[in-house]
Parts: sequence; structure tokens; C-alpha cells
Amino acid sequence: MTASQPAAQTGTSARPKLAFRPLPVPQVDVRGFWGDRVDAVAAKTAGILYDRCVEARMLEQIDPDRPSPGVVIPFHVSDGFTSRTVTTQMFWDSDWGKTIETAAYSLYRRRNPDLEKKIDAVIDMYGKLQQEDGYLSSWYQRIQPGLRWTNLRDCHELYCAGHLIEGAVAYFQATGKRKLLDVMSRYADHIADTFGPEPGKRKGYCGHEEIELALVRLARATGKDRYMKLAKYFIDQRGQQPHYFDEEAMARGADPKDFHFKTYEYNQSHRPVREQDKVVGHAVRAMYLYSGMADIATEYGDDTLKVALERLWDDLTTKSLYVTGGLGPSKDNEGFTNDYDLPNETAYAETCASVGLVFWASRMLGMGPNARYADMMERALYNGSISGLSLDGSLFFYENPLESRGGHHRWKWHRCPCCPPNIGRMVASIGSYFYGLADDALAVHLYGDSTARFEIAGRQVSLVQTSNYPWDGAVAIEVGPEAPVTFTLHLRVPAWCRKAALRVNGKLVDLEAATVDGYAAIRREWRQGDKVELDLEMSMARLFANPNVRQDIGRVALARGPLIYCVEETDNGGGLHRIALPREARLEARKEPNLLGGIVTLSAIGSRAETENWGHNLYRPEPPAAEETTVRAIPYFAWDNRDPGEMLVWLREG
Ligand SMILES: [Zn+2]
Repeated sequence: MTASQPAAQTGTSARPKLAFRPLPVPQVDVRGFWGDRVDAVAAKTAGILYDRCVEARMLEQIDPDRPSPGVVIPFHVSDGFTSRTVTTQMFWDSDWGKTIETAAYSLYRRRNPDLEKKIDAVIDMYGKLQQEDGYLSSWYQRIQPGLRWTNLRDCHELYCAGHLIEGAVAYFQATGKRKLLDVMSRYADHIADTFGPEPGKRKGYCGHEEIELALVRLARATGKDRYMKLAKYFIDQRGQQPHYFDEEAMARGADPKDFHFKTYEYNQSHRPVREQDKVVGHAVRAMYLYSGMADIATEYGDDTLKVALERLWDDLTTKSLYVTGGLGPSKDNEGFTNDYDLPNETAYAETCASVGLVFWASRMLGMGPNARYADMMERALYNGSISGLSLDGSLFFYENPLESRGGHHRWKWHRCPCCPPNIGRMVASIGSYFYGLADDALAVHLYGDSTARFEIAGRQVSLVQTSNYPWDGAVAIEVGPEAPVTFTLHLRVPAWCRKAALRVNGKLVDLEAATVDGYAAIRREWRQGDKVELDLEMSMARLFANPNVRQDIGRVALARGPLIYCVEETDNGGGLHRIALPREARLEARKEPNLLGGIVTLSAIGSRAETENWGHNLYRPEPPAAEETTVRAIPYFAWDNRDPGEMLVWLREG
């Protein structure tokens, strides 16, 4: 393994707009909070993902030297599909893609020759499996030969290609090994020969978005504009008439109406993307589509896409987002329902959907620093996404409810194992979400103990953040250019922070005057040893939901800084619904270094409706007596890491 950074992340032909690009993973070393998370992924999760894929028989499917395993996971007849169309086994290639990607980022953190050897072997199998014409799908080559490109609507064919492409780019960047990148470039060439606006090519796109953002990554890594154009084509073509999924269904002799999810809103192809104004359908698909749109908007300076994205962002964040940054309340469509429908106990809030929101938000930042996006990225990162991974990196949530009666726990694996490698790759690449680099500006989106290295205006610069964030809001930044260099440093001032102070070399900066879109901008000639101090008051807050959210009215959620809190049975006893927190109760934050890897807890004096003197009545004219109780809350992401029990985010107020 080499830590070098081969020609990547830059390199597509000149685009019109100034863009803020994320720093590549190896250029940011994270310590502290995120360091612990990345260590857990590198030490445990990455290897576990490989082992579980093997146990699920995924290796047999991709190895041309072994007999095909056949259909291991039955088709979803029971899920309501009227024909034997879909099984999660169809997208095993995507699980490999994300597993390869997680392993790649983990190798930056921790050498692991054993895992690297195993991943090399997987890549060799894909190399051997690839057809002469470049096509590569373990499902359509090994299990259902002859059916390729016949059902883009349901069968995840291009989605699988996308994840393998992302894995290929990451593995190349981490190890310098080109094999999978070359394999996937050949496949992408084949896809570009098959799909596009030219006569004779298919006018389709994938029912599960992913290929779009993956092609952007491939274009950036290889410098080949062809992949960028194809990504743009898939975005532009989505939802156009005549509708591809109708025509495709008829071509395979099926009735287009025979679609389990009834509406193309399910896969966001109900309208051309620029006309979409509501976040609808399957949540992960939506997030991946908007991520791809944001990439294309950034690369092409396409304001028509930007405007649509801003509308969609407004819709999501004002009507359909859980306070944890979770999204997609319904199990039925794994996605969105009606405005303000945010049930807590039955919240689906798939880990992948929150991870997808992080992807989308981070790509909106490509168009310039804006705390509107970065604050939400932080919310999803610290709450609804990493809740999906146990603190030790070994167990996974698929659903992330905000309330549990004690029966919801992380599992080892899943019939649809999309979430484990998704949270794995996101955590292992967290450093790349910290910064955005433009020609003469660096934006600091996230705070945390870390060191970044980058080049700006021809100068090498290091930037060291010293901080105990998110437990403490004091951030000291030391800027170290090899020689004096002028650029603008944009520092996010989160909306949750009520009091902030900024000093440059000890001199107070007028924060209000310096701040645009939630980022303070400091433009100066930076010299070795320059110090920036940002003090963000780690405000504790009571949060209330819009009264249209029926499930949360009369309830309160607790937050401190970017963290949303919850109460667990193990700290508070059972019957959490009987607890009430008075509005005037004083909240106390306490550092607990020995609890859950070192956290800050919140506590307050509340009350609990007692049942002891209630008797055997179900109803009675007298209300229950209330007894005083200490309410102790922990960060939501850390729940279900101790004794199993109840959990609750939205506490009754009173
Ligand atoms: Zn998932």
C-alpha cells in the first residue's frame, strides 16, 4: 500500500464555475471523536464486511472459476411484486463495491496486508469475469444470462456498476493499483456506447440512482470527459417522455402498470429532474439522485439544476426530516410519505438515507460554502447516520427509529446488506468532508482534532485543528504554509451556536461583518504559525417540532451543539413514556470520560407518572401521581451500546 495520491480529484476539462472540491481522504488525518470512529472501521468493520459478504456466498457469484451459486436469496414474490422480478442478490456487486471502498479508505488509517490481499483477489475475479465487450455484472452473467439491460427499472444493473466504479476509484487512490479502475473504465466505456442521446443508443437510466455520481468520480479520477457527459445524460434524461420504463416494460412483454410501487415517484422519474419540487419516493434513491445533480450543477455551472436542488432541499428540511437527520419514515416504500409525517417508533430512517443526505449536502457545498447545507450535513453525520454503527464497529442498524420499546437492536448482517458498507465507507472517508478547496480559498466545513495538507496558489499548506469537538466548542487552528500565501479561509459558524468569537493571532474579528451564508471569511496573507481561534459556545437546546408533526406535539428533544440526545432505559428505568421534563428544568451537561467511549451527558430533574398506586384500573377519574426523577440523556448515536432496553428522543414536556 502506498499513501501517494495518484492523479485524481482534479483533471476534467475546464468547467465554467469556481468549485470547492473536497480534500482527498489521505490529505486529512482525523483524531479525537472521528479518529475513534475511523479506527473502529479500520480495525473491525472493514474486515467484517468482507467476511459477511463471503458468508452470504457473494464470492461464489463473482468467481468464474467456481460453479454459480444460483439463486441464494429468493425473489420478492411475498413483498408484493406480481412477477418474480427482484431479489437483493441482484445487487451483490454493489455490496462488493462498497466493501472495496471501505477497505480502501481503511488502508490509509491502518496497514492491513491480509485484507488488501483478499480485496486484490476479489478484484482479480471481477477482472476475469468481465466480458470481451466490457460488460460486467455477476448477476446477469452468472445467474440470469441473456437478460441484460431488460429491466433497468427494478434490477439495479447500473446501480451495481456505480458502486463498483466508486470502489475502483477509491482503491486506486488508496493503493495506486489500477486494475479495478481499468476494468471499470472499460465497463463505463461500454455503458457510454450503450446509453446516450445518439441514434441507436438506449435512452434509459437506472431505477436506483448511483451511476450518475459514480461517473462524476470516475471522470474526475481519470480526466475523461466522456464519463462526465454520460452522468449528465442520465440526469437530463430522467423522467423525459416517452417514459423509458414504460417502453422497456412493453419491450419485455410486460404491462408498464404492473409496477409494485405504482408511481414513478418511487424512483424520482415521474418528471424531468429540473421540474421536480418535492422530495418523493425511495429515500436513498432520492439522495443519490440529488447528489449526482449537485455534482453536475457544480461541474457545468448549471443554475437550472441548482434552483431545482434548492427547492428540493427546502422541501426536505422543512417538512420531511427527522430531528436526527434521519429521513424516509415509511417501510413500505423505504421512503417519503406526506408532509410532517414523522412517526418516531416506526421510523424507517434507513442508515443509507442519512448517509445519502451527507453525500447530497457535501456536494451542495461544491457550489460554495453555505452553512445551510453544512449544518445539516453535520446533523446527519453526528446523529442519524453513525447511529447505524455500533461503537466498536461490529453491528449495524438498518432502521434508525427515534423511539423503541426495547426490541430494536443492531444486527450482524441483513438480507439487504446495503447499510453496513455504506456507513463503513462514509466514516472511513470522513476527512474528505471536513474541507472544500477552491483556487484561492479553503472552507472549513467541520471541526475536530485533525491535520490537513493541501496546495493552494502553488504553495503547500498544513492546517492543524486542535479541539475536543463536539464535546467542547473551542477550536484552535494553526495555518502553516511553506511560504507566505494569500487565500481566503472560510469558517463555518453553525446556526445552533448562540455565541461565537473569532480571533486571528489573538485579535478579535468582527464576526457579524465577516460572515456570509454562515461562514466567516478571513482573507489575508497567511504565514507559518498564524493562529485562528474559534470559540463556539456548545449551546444546550430544547428543540420543538412544527405543531403539524402530530407525533411530537407537547414533546421536547434535547440537543447540545451538533448532537441530538435520547434517554435510555439503562439510565432511566423502564416506561420512558411516563417521564416528563418541565420547560423550566435546568439542564446540566457533564463530561463522562468512562461512559460509551467518553461522552457528555445531559441531565435534569423531571417527573415520572407513577403506576404503583394506580391499582388494576385501566381508566379512572384521578390522574396518576408524579414522582420526581433525574432524567439522564446520552447522545442519540450512542444508544443501544449497553444493556438492551427502551429509548426515546422526544420527551413529554410538563
Ligand atoms: Zn441501507
